[in-house]
Amino acid sequence: MKHNFGAGPCILPKDVFTEASQAVLDFNGTGLSILEISHRSKEFEAVITEAESLVRELLEVPEGYSILFLQGGASQQFAMVPFNLLPNYGRAAYLDTGTWSSKAIKEAKNFGAIDVVASSSDRNYSYVPKSYTVPADAAYLHYTSNNTIFGTEIFDLPVADVPLVTDMSSDIFSRVIRVADHGLIYAGAQKNMGPAGVTLVVVKDELLGKTGRTIPAIFDYQQHAKADSLYNTPPVFSIYVSMLNLRWLKAKGGVSVMEQENIIKARKLYEEIDRNPLFRGTADVEDRSRMNVTFVMTNPALEEEFLALAKERGMVGLKGHRSVGGFRASIYNALGISSINALIDLMREFEEAQN
Ligand code: PMP
Repeated sequence: MKHNFGAGPCILPKDVFTEASQAVLDFNGTGLSILEISHRSKEFEAVITEAESLVRELLEVPEGYSILFLQGGASQQFAMVPFNLLPNYGRAAYLDTGTWSSKAIKEAKNFGAIDVVASSSDRNYSYVPKSYTVPADAAYLHYTSNNTIFGTEIFDLPVADVPLVTDMSSDIFSRVIRVADHGLIYAGAQKNMGPAGVTLVVVKDELLGKTGRTIPAIFDYQQHAKADSLYNTPPVFSIYVSMLNLRWLKAKGGVSVMEQENIIKARKLYEEIDRNPLFRGTADVEDRSRMNVTFVMTNPALEEEFLALAKERGMVGLKGHRSVGGFRASIYNALGISSINALIDLMREFEEAQN
């Protein structure tokens, strides 16, 4: 058995893989593979309708929001957001908390004036800036709720009198959120929603159609909303597997039950990092992510040995991103507590071996 601590694409529940693999051979007794059915067939219509209603139910999406299943990853949203929400000659505010927000900022600059209201780049994005002012004339404030690379997470909503646009790629469905607090939420699927290839967008309809610019149809949220995400051929298989994964999440008790599990998993691991003199967390304690736990060794010379041992024990995906170094344990929804325990056991064993 492998313990998959990979940052994404990442672990999904085993039952989801089993059911998805069956559907590749014979989808629901149709005698056809899920890979060969039409996206306009009634069978797929049932899949995408269920996927949408599971998103609505699990996130408790209020009236007035569209749910879109798009392609191009979260990176495409870095462009689609300003394309659709930043008026010609307008301005937007961005919070810079890491690589992904920086990329979103760079892309948005193609569309208008961008105010970077605060940045934590001064300490290699190891914390979340808390005091900043968002200009009242900004079309929106964009922020990344979980910084996958640097291991910080924003639990308290930024204070702003403008719509919040949130990249939730790596913490969506991991904790309870209030969709009504956001103008737009987007997330590449490949962490807690499903396989790579589909991107979820939850957007407040009243924000759309106000930029004064012509938007090519394929980049226009309104066109996708009008077509119920079937403007063109959608990523059928990714949507199907996401639907299975959301069914799994619902059967577990939904997002609030998941959140409690995630709190326990993260707490256990951080407790060991703080207790064990060989290890040190890289993010400020108050901003620590529950999804991506970043840490290093007090003696970096030992890191390679630890990683090799972890690999021997079936732990994969633990190597930290090159911009932080050390380790990153991504502990998404589908990663069980037994994998956390296996990692903690190894950390303790390693400590004893040094004495
Ligand atoms: N935002 C965040 C928070 C991410 O973690 C990632 C990918 N890891 C991205 C954006 C980019 O996503 P994609 O590769 O789907 O474009």
